[in-house]
Amino acid sequence: MPTHIIIFGPPGSGKGTFSGRLTNIFPQFEHISTGDIFRENLKNETPLGKKAKEYMEKGELVPNSLTNDLVKDKLEQIEEKSWILDGYPRNMNQVEFLDKHAKIDLFLLLEVPRDVIKKRILGRFSCPECGEIYNKYTLQPEKKIGNEKWICDKCGAEIEFRQRSDDSEETLNNRLDVYEENAEPIIQHYKEKDKLKKIDAEDTLELTEKELKDILEI
Ligand code: AMP
Repeated sequence: MPTHIIIFGPPGSGKGTFSGRLTNIFPQFEHISTGDIFRENLKNETPLGKKAKEYMEKGELVPNSLTNDLVKDKLEQIEEKSWILDGYPRNMNQVEFLDKHAKIDLFLLLEVPRDVIKKRILGRFSCPECGEIYNKYTLQPEKKIGNEKWICDKCGAEIEFRQRSDDSEETLNNRLDVYEENAEPIIQHYKEKDKLKKIDAEDTLELTEKELKDILEI
């Protein structure tokens, strides 16, 4: 039976990094990130990207009508597989939609203090070639070649620090407010279904394979 996991937490709690680590170690899981899908569409200026742009730039949620269909299509494409869903659901409408289309085995809540989140998000950047994620405060590439310039550890491309367009301080505050407004009933929903597991996510990169297996119950 495929396993279906939701990774939930505030922006900057490390959902993407944690999911990436899980899928590296457990390749049977497909990683679906609605934020990545929207960013890809924005970059390629697709019709979906054009519709999502104004919301993303303000740190607001893209309307459910667009987001739900996108997730449904994606889940239909990988029906028989195990997956990790990151960045969805973000409100109760999305929770109800997801309940209709998938069986959820585990809801992982990543918990991180607010000051740590701010450093993580405002320092975050990625390799323009391969997408590897770094942080200028906590996770710089090994080889520095200038002021805020490095060589990507993974693919060797030159990288200059550039904040993600939805990572400004103002957008971040708005995203944190949006998260807090919506999070409580979502967490409660999965708690009542006995699917909730809380993770201290300050150092998820330190977790061993055995600890990750225990978390995923696989
Ligand atoms: P993320 O990287 O997950 O924080 O997503 C970046 C942006 O994409 C968010 O600020 C939203 O504008 C949009 N987005 C991602 N996931 C969702 C979702 N489930 N519902 C609505 N908007 C979303």
